[in-house]
Amino acid sequence: MSGIKFNRIALIGIGLIGSSLARIIREKDLAGHISIATRSKKTLYKARELVLGDSYTIDSAEAVKDADLVIISVPVGASGIVARNIANSLKFGAIVTDVGSAKASVISQMQPELPDHVHFIPGHPIAGTEFSGPCAGFAELFSNRWCILTPIPGTNEEALEKLNAFWVACGSKTDWMDPVHHDLILAMVSHLPHIIAYSIIGTANNLEKAIHAEVIAYSASGFRDFTRLSSSDPAMWRDICLHNRDAILEVLGRFSEDLALLQRAIRCEDSDALFELFTYTRAIRQDVIEEEKKKNRPSCGNK
Ligand code: NAP
Repeated sequence: MSGIKFNRIALIGIGLIGSSLARIIREKDLAGHISIATRSKKTLYKARELVLGDSYTIDSAEAVKDADLVIISVPVGASGIVARNIANSLKFGAIVTDVGSAKASVISQMQPELPDHVHFIPGHPIAGTEFSGPCAGFAELFSNRWCILTPIPGTNEEALEKLNAFWVACGSKTDWMDPVHHDLILAMVSHLPHIIAYSIIGTANNLEKAIHAEVIAYSASGFRDFTRLSSSDPAMWRDICLHNRDAILEVLGRFSEDLALLQRAIRCEDSDALFELFTYTRAIRQDVIEEEKKKNRPSCGNK
């Protein structure tokens, strides 16, 4: 028993994240009623078939009526439109949050749309997979993963504690961060690796047909790992790139410089430089594993 329970939780967006939330909310009895809204009838029917909630609609304004917690789980580029659609139907004192992978943009899109009588607290569960849609979700998704809340100045303490308790009840470890800082950290640990994966697979695809076929046929673990990342949802990753543009360009710039140095070391047959770098990076991997063991910290998920 977590002790936290909302009368009514509205889930706007019922893909991987929304449906995982629906499942854990049900499992942990965190809501008296779960209302679900999504954009398409097809996804809505699927959510109903999976019995993810108690009521279903394609009208997000309808879904949020009387909800004391509203969780928006749509691609970050759609956050502003969703906020505009629900604004006039939100209950006084409701907590409105989101799960988007880029925070500064979500805040600038949503905050101007939402009424003063609700508590808007942006969030980001760092948990995911390369799959999407309501069938892809599972109740354990958030277990032992970080959920980062990025409260805006003046956030109501009680509402923040309540949302924090909700994520803890979902199995997450929580942390609070400045939104811009969040975006830079995520650009490094998640967005850059995905962009590199998209780029590598793109390079392989552009090879002449015969070579391309062999790359696929003989793909070893390194290439296969990249294909997993590069199979993530295109709409979601398009939006992450567009809405965390500055931080992504910053880390991409640093990455390009370091890649050029590595390229030079290979061309110049600088074996010391290569050995030094590969020894150093191996030690970082060890540090990450040791840190997790020592502090029993959750390992970071996908996004
Ligand atoms: P998903 O499985 O693709 O589901 C997306 C949901 O948003 C669906 O209900 C979809 O509705 C709806 N939607 C899509 N485009 C929309 C639009 N333009 N307007 C309104 N609704 C729209 O996505 P997800 O993986 O759950 O990701 C949702 C959010 O979580 C994103 O902001 C992402 O950055 C964040 N996130 C994702 C992960 C991850 O690993 N996937 C991890 C952490 C955070 P229909 O299907 O009805 O069209």
